[in-house]
Amino acid sequence: MPESVGVIGAGLVGCLTAIALAKRNFDVTLFDYRQDPRLTTTSDKNLRSINLAISARGIESLQYVDKEISERVLKDIIPMHGRMIHDRAGNQESQNYGLFGECINSIDRGVLNNSLLDEVDKISNIHTKFGHKLSQVKFNLQSKQSCTFMADSSKASYDFDFIVGCDGAYSTTRSQMQRDIRMDYSQEYIDCCYIELYIAPAKVHNTEFNGPFAISPNHLHIWPRHNYMLIALANGDGSFTSTFFGPWSLVESLDTRAKIQEFLMSNFPDALELIGTKQAVDAFEKNPRGALMCVECKPYHLDNGRAIILGDAAHSMVPFYGQGMNCGFEDVRVLMQLLDKHEGDRTAAFAEYSQKRHTDLVSIIELAKNNYKEMSHSVTSNLYLMRKKLDTM
Ligand code: FAD
Repeated sequence: MPESVGVIGAGLVGCLTAIALAKRNFDVTLFDYRQDPRLTTTSDKNLRSINLAISARGIESLQYVDKEISERVLKDIIPMHGRMIHDRAGNQESQNYGLFGECINSIDRGVLNNSLLDEVDKISNIHTKFGHKLSQVKFNLQSKQSCTFMADSSKASYDFDFIVGCDGAYSTTRSQMQRDIRMDYSQEYIDCCYIELYIAPAKVHNTEFNGPFAISPNHLHIWPRHNYMLIALANGDGSFTSTFFGPWSLVESLDTRAKIQEFLMSNFPDALELIGTKQAVDAFEKNPRGALMCVECKPYHLDNGRAIILGDAAHSMVPFYGQGMNCGFEDVRVLMQLLDKHEGDRTAAFAEYSQKRHTDLVSIIELAKNNYKEMSHSVTSNLYLMRKKLDTM
């Protein structure tokens, strides 16, 4: 009889975890409180970026889990070989990431999640349960882990040999584990709000960019303005998802359409031309305003191989290093390698995971925080630009 595992959260990391465990012959049940995102329209969407940067860290982890799946789910990625810095006068300056064509890649979050769910559906030892919200876990040493879910306003219970919590920054799995062990935990909101804006595809095919792109699709565009900034990443249809990041006090002080318009026109005139003034002001006024939070905790597991948390449930980080999902994918690879190393002994694998992974994760959380200064400020300084030029000569 294969051992049973409940994976909580069918987001990006939960889907990859389910696939990786199914390939190791566990009997996997994958839960999410949302309805199947492939069947719903807009109402169930997370307040999250529409597109993401996937880097070598994430791609190598996907390939490690399954090369063919990785090829299928990554087929539409758009490589970004550098940053494109936009100054107030509308000048653009390309800053390559590396000397040998190194790149990060833009990918649509919804497309990636849905493609991973399509892959999940093809695997017979994964059972998917949407509309199931984990509310309680009774962890047992002698018997199985007993999980209670709210499903259509009634309760449903399932028992598993172990559970993997991939239920995001506000993880219920984590809070249930905290009742059982002395888990160190911290949560910090940074003073930064984000708002998403949209650049529509160009009306004509742009031969320079081989598609209906108004600006280069192969750059991560940044409008750095010291303590706030705008960024934009390309989508396959020629559009760009643009995100404004700035202090809450600034955003809240822009409390009329006139103030918003004046702020955008004086800081981002070329971006405003791309977005459209009315559309930009509408978005700024009406679109959801996201908060950014960091979560650190330790350990990530319960003893006797009963439970572990991966992805944002274990380490939520600010998005400025573009590594939250990438790190979550890497969690899956590291855990699978440890399960292989310990020949399936979960007690040993989970313990080594918590011990070894923590230093890397707190480092990347710190790097992500520091990169806000880099993206919004340092990229504009003359010294930085001179150094960059010397690097690329
Ligand atoms: P989530 O994506 O949060 O998924 C958790 C899932 O669990 C959800 O589907 C949710 O419905 C489900 N769930 C939650 N609670 C329960 C429950 N009680 N019961 C059942 N199901 C539950 N990362 C990058 O690598 N590159 C980027 O460029 C990047 N850009 C970003 C931009 C922004 C603005 C933000 C906010 C984040 C960005 N990130 C980026 C981070 C990335 O979005 C996260 O790291 C990633 O989504 C984490 O995936 P996850 O599966 O761990 O958690």
